[in-house]
Amino acid sequence: MATVETVNGPVDVEELGRTLIHEHFRTTDEAARFQFPHLYDDAAEWDAAITDANAVKGHGIQTVVEPSAMFLQRDAAFSKRVADESGLNVVLATGIYTYDHLPQVLLNRDEDQLAEIFVHDIEQGIQSTDIKAAFVKCAADEPGVTPNVEKVHRAAARASQQTGRPIMAHSHPKSETGLRQMEVFAEEGVDPSKVQVAHTGDTDDLDYIERLLDTGCWIGMDRYGLDVFLPTEQRQATVLALLEKGHADRMFLSQDWCSTLDWFTPEMEEQLKPQMAPNWSMTFLFEQVIPELKERGMTDEQLDQMMVENPKAWLA
Ligand SMILES: [Zn+2]
Repeated sequence: MATVETVNGPVDVEELGRTLIHEHFRTTDEAARFQFPHLYDDAAEWDAAITDANAVKGHGIQTVVEPSAMFLQRDAAFSKRVADESGLNVVLATGIYTYDHLPQVLLNRDEDQLAEIFVHDIEQGIQSTDIKAAFVKCAADEPGVTPNVEKVHRAAARASQQTGRPIMAHSHPKSETGLRQMEVFAEEGVDPSKVQVAHTGDTDDLDYIERLLDTGCWIGMDRYGLDVFLPTEQRQATVLALLEKGHADRMFLSQDWCSTLDWFTPEMEEQLKPQMAPNWSMTFLFEQVIPELKERGMTDEQLDQMMVENPKAWLA
């Protein structure tokens, strides 16, 4: 029986059910939070997280994969509280979310030493808890696969090789980082079917997406509502085109929603959200995206493939 590590221990893959593959119950800066806690409102953050958890549960979601890593304020105790109070399964990662910067503590460690850190979280537990990471997260964005980013990717690959756990790689499709990321994993001998290239849905360039799929990876159509990267209509047209080409068995649908995000002051958020992401939420998929995809030809079987079968296969 295959199992997946959740914040409440291993769960039989058959019990994961409908899964959101990429959402965050809280995204804040770890250093700012530690140094300037007066900028943060714990009670409001908790309310936002539990409201979203209960809302997606109301839409039939049983599992949320929360790919927060270092620099995204991964917090195993907070995520466990969300799971305990909502009844959701929550699946956590180990890894580092950086587009280039690494602190000295990581600059002065090599790929194998970073891999050892990730393996610790997978085998021993996260942040001195017995909550284990189910997968490894890494990222490449606009700066590309810089030497630091490459080091983190190679470390993620080695941790995956040692433990058999899958990898989620945040990507920047506009500069086609996914292809280079998959090359690094291939050089490390990673089975491409263990890798999910997140945020592939930020482009409607089918040629790039199909070249990426040719490497054998999974792709995240996982930022629905983030119009600033690609408007919903183009995301929908891209997913429908890929479904027509028979790629339902390689795609995930999600929103990369953050119940709390500290990037902007409240005033900026009020001004920017209507321009950048007016519909973005943890329930946008259920309120608009999925009903519309169904109207335009997506079958229930394709939906189950993307939201039940694919998460199961990638995580297990
Ligand atoms: Zn994310």
